[in-house]
Amino acid sequence: MARAALSVGVVTVWQQARLVERLRETDSAVTLVFEPEEWSGHLAGQHADIRLTADDGYQAVRSYSLAGPVEEGRVVFTVQRVLGGEVSTYLCDDLPVGAYVEVRGPVGGWFVWRGTDTRPVMLLAGGSGIVPLQAMVRQRRALGSRVPFRLLYSVRTPEDVIYADELARPEGGVDVAVRYTREAPPGARRAPRRLGLVDLNTHGWPAEFEPMCFVCGPNGFVEAAANMLITLGHDRHRIKTERFG
Ligand SMILES: Cc1cc2nc3c(=O)[nH]c(=O)nc-3n(C[C@H](O)[C@H](O)[C@H](O)COP(=O)(O)OP(=O)(O)OC[C@H]3O[C@@H](n4cnc5c(N)ncnc54)[C@H](O)[C@@H]3O)c2cc1C
Repeated sequence: MARAALSVGVVTVWQQARLVERLRETDSAVTLVFEPEEWSGHLAGQHADIRLTADDGYQAVRSYSLAGPVEEGRVVFTVQRVLGGEVSTYLCDDLPVGAYVEVRGPVGGWFVWRGTDTRPVMLLAGGSGIVPLQAMVRQRRALGSRVPFRLLYSVRTPEDVIYADELARPEGGVDVAVRYTREAPPGARRAPRRLGLVDLNTHGWPAEFEPMCFVCGPNGFVEAAANMLITLGHDRHRIKTERFG
């Protein structure tokens, strides 16, 4: 495939990216580190498009959130396998280290956290929706920012927690709460269930603090979580959502 011409600043056209590392996150999620030809940087929360081309020319394109700041020219994604999914299964199970895909990005200017914004931040993640939100936590860390963050993460079971070790490490100014929908860890006092108003009340910022709220995950999760934030009095203009389909 012809090498793409690159624009200055933001990369807006397809370019080749080599897979340099693959890290297991959970049974169904993997972190993939790519080395693109050129990457001028991105904001926390932005995503990129990944394009796969089969031998017969068939192409498939999907969006994946950038999982952290660019480091030494490398960009990081975390992909959760969707049962029967065309692209996620290939990325999770088959793409070998050293192979190339095409990437285009960064994409998106709305669902982003800028380190210059000093308002408290509320992050609400459902499943793989943790990826762009953890990118914001990582950006905060990289900047040495002291903006207070609260992360409320809803997952099916303890085995499904992406970035489990990183989330378990105490980090000043970042409060993390993980809640389970299907199976809780032994000894947990909260029965497994979907996030409710009580969870947001207990682990979120009060609306009077006027936090920036970022919600990401499957459609149903985003819809429910955003509605709960509104019910709790948060201004809809301070609620940003990203739906993974
Ligand atoms: C802006 C944006 C950022 C995204 N970031 C990430 C990310 O960081 N990590 C990540 O793993 N995914 C992310 N996604 C989802 C990703 O783009 C794909 O939709 C997902 O990997 C499934 O693609 P697939 O080709 O495997 O499945 P497909 O072959 O497209 O779909 C197979 C079946 O699964 C259903 N399906 C599709 N997507 C999902 C889903 N997300 N959850 C449940 N069922 C689904 C479809 O309706 C279909 O029935 C993001 C999506 C968007 C729009």
